[in-house]
Amino acid sequence: MTKVSLNVKLLSHTLDPELTIALGGKLCYSKSEIDTLREDTRGSEEKFVQKLMSFGHLSPLEHASFTFGVQGVSRALLAQITRHRIASFSVQSQRYVATENLTYIVPPSVIELGEEAVQEFEQQMETVNSFYAKWLDKGLPAEDARFVLPNAAETRMIFTMNVRELLHFFELRCCMRAQWEIRRLAWCMAAMVRREAPAIFEMRGASCLSGACKEGKMSCGKAKEVKKLDEQLTALVKNGATDEEIIGWVNNNIR
Ligand SMILES: Cc1cc2nc3c(=O)[nH]c(=O)nc-3n(C[C@H](O)[C@H](O)[C@H](O)COP(=O)(O)OP(=O)(O)OC[C@H]3O[C@@H](n4cnc5c(N)ncnc54)[C@H](O)[C@@H]3O)c2cc1C
Repeated sequence: MTKVSLNVKLLSHTLDPELTIALGGKLCYSKSEIDTLREDTRGSEEKFVQKLMSFGHLSPLEHASFTFGVQGVSRALLAQITRHRIASFSVQSQRYVATENLTYIVPPSVIELGEEAVQEFEQQMETVNSFYAKWLDKGLPAEDARFVLPNAAETRMIFTMNVRELLHFFELRCCMRAQWEIRRLAWCMAAMVRREAPAIFEMRGASCLSGACKEGKMSCGKAKEVKKLDEQLTALVKNGATDEEIIGWVNNNIR
């Protein structure tokens, strides 16, 4: 029985994402051979990518993708993130991986209630784990024993999103109206990709960062606060923050 918390790493991404996207966009409007075009684009790719985005020519953004490794997140998060159909996922299987030792996430709202509440939550996890272990002992396959496991159970995944999908994901999930766990993950991801491709991702997050809030009547009304947080995160990223430093900042500031 172990409590775990969000751990996300940017594993890899398309080589020269900004150049690749700019090249895709420029090709649409040019008579040049691709080799020539690539040389002509080098050095001006940042400006050109921003131009493409400003006039809504977004399909070239699909030429670059980013792959993340995530652990220390709940099955509740899994249900939400896999609704994003344009992403590609590999998820640790509860059919093939039986867990003698349930690892789980404690929501911040429980932690805020104090140590006694956390202990009660842990006891509940222990009880659930004992139900699970009992079913395994009786010979149930892991795929059936898992039916008694909670939403708090940890899952691990590797997923890939292209840039167009990432921008869409950030609009929805960096938003203060998104659930806390996926929101924290989205802010971490936004910082990590910004570090690699600032021309694409600077000022990109919840919809209120780059335009009007898309939540309408349901708006949290905290656009100013979100902008301030984003500025802090940009400064952190510009100072070369590691993945670990980004996660630490997000856990402390994105509530
Ligand atoms: C705050 C919040 C609350 C939510 N609450 C609920 C809830 O209570 N219940 C619930 O069921 N879900 C809920 N969701 C999930 C939501 O409905 C979407 O399923 C999820 O956000 C994925 O969004 P998407 O479909 O735009 O993204 P993606 O699947 O990543 O798709 C990206 C974009 O591609 C296009 N696209 C993808 N597939 C198709 C297609 N088949 N046809 C046409 N266009 C397509 C669309 O333009 C889409 O926006 C919630 C999401 C948020 C952010």
